[in-house]
Amino acid sequence: MKIKYSSPIVEMQGDEMTRVLWDMIKEKLLSPHVELNTEYYDLGLVNREKTDDEVTLAAARAVKKYGVGVKCATITPNAQRVEEYKLSKMWLSPNGTIRAALDGTVFRAPIMVKGITPYIPNWTKPITIARHAYGDVYKNSELSVDGGAECSLCVDYADGRSIRKPIASFADGEGGVIQGVHNRDSSIRAFARSCFTFALDKRQDVWFGAKDTISKTYDHRFKDIFAEVYENEFKDKMTAAGIKYEYSLIDDSVARVIRSGGGFIWALKNYDGDVMSDMVATAYGSLAMMTSVLVSPDGKYEYEAAHGTVTRHYYRHLKGEETSTNPIATVFAWTGAFARRAETENNAALGKFAASLERACIDTVESGVMTGDLAAIFKRDGVDVKAVSSSVYLDEVAKRL
Ligand code: NAP
Ligand code: MG
Repeated sequence: MKIKYSSPIVEMQGDEMTRVLWDMIKEKLLSPHVELNTEYYDLGLVNREKTDDEVTLAAARAVKKYGVGVKCATITPNAQRVEEYKLSKMWLSPNGTIRAALDGTVFRAPIMVKGITPYIPNWTKPITIARHAYGDVYKNSELSVDGGAECSLCVDYADGRSIRKPIASFADGEGGVIQGVHNRDSSIRAFARSCFTFALDKRQDVWFGAKDTISKTYDHRFKDIFAEVYENEFKDKMTAAGIKYEYSLIDDSVARVIRSGGGFIWALKNYDGDVMSDMVATAYGSLAMMTSVLVSPDGKYEYEAAHGTVTRHYYRHLKGEETSTNPIATVFAWTGAFARRAETENNAALGKFAASLERACIDTVESGVMTGDLAAIFKRDGVDVKAVSSSVYLDEVAKRL
């Protein structure tokens, strides 16, 4: 008998190689065991064009309604894609649209297997990166300044008040640059809530670092809002769960992360998160082994792989070649959604299926059967490495499952 659950999961199909993997995963691993109850949205570029991107907005509304979604990687169009797909418009990134609709934060964590050692070997547990995805230098206003100028920040209130604060004066013939950035209390608060909500779900500590000693108003606001949200809304629940929130200066935070064993959520301001997520992903070994989940402040979850549509492999697939594209992060997007649904419905069978499927994926790799990207970096005593196609890999996982 297949495993059932009652409330639908929002399923968002995508593009190119990951679209192909999506159907293979459903056919080989999910449908044989689970009575799939999904509300289906095709976010493939062809359908986004056909629906004037309405389908993306509808999918975002559905995630809000049902609370759990799983998304395949999608193309974010650029000029070349507009040409390739004969698009009427350069549609926005679906991920950006969904993130804005949910006011959510993206959490990224590596999938760890024996045989792929992080470049920092004491990182024996995954580090989850939470990047604040609003404002700061990404929504800045900047200017190049000629010499002979007084530069200041100025604020004009609707009630007529006006504030000016000097930035710098430039002497005659002395050029330079200035920039203004902003953030919103509401966005910082939503970020903090998403981080603590996710921490409770994962039963992991939250570390947050900023530069409040230097930036006594701007960065300090982040520190204050995190402290306030924690104290008022999460401290009791987190303490009861045996986890905690810790703030430290960003430079101290970086040093402690490097010395740590992993196993916590690292909350970062927008720029810090941009930089540190690339460092952490690389240190763990492979982009194809990175999971990603968007969490809204009120606890809606959308799961996906962190990688893109793997275009180069798709062109080979179109020529009829069997590709060795790693499906693991996409499988884990499904297991993440199942595990979440299992929690909301107290459904032990579904939870057990999610855990077993993850185990089967990992065991298959640890036994030596894997896709090419992993075969290139895998090393384990007594294990012979066999690089196989996506399809053969999924068949091996199905056997173990
Ligand atoms: P990508 O699809 O992540 O692929 C970059 C390269 O990384 C691939 O060519 C491949 O290297 C390797 N790779 C990534 N995932 C892999 C996997 N599962 N198995 C094996 N190798 C893997 O990034 P991209 O080429 O920059 O972007 C392609 C398209 O994806 C773009 O249209 C972009 O807009 C979209 N994208 C979507 C998302 C999303 O929906 N979340 C995220 C990022 C990008 P080799 O070719 O060397 O094997
Ligand atoms: Mg980056």
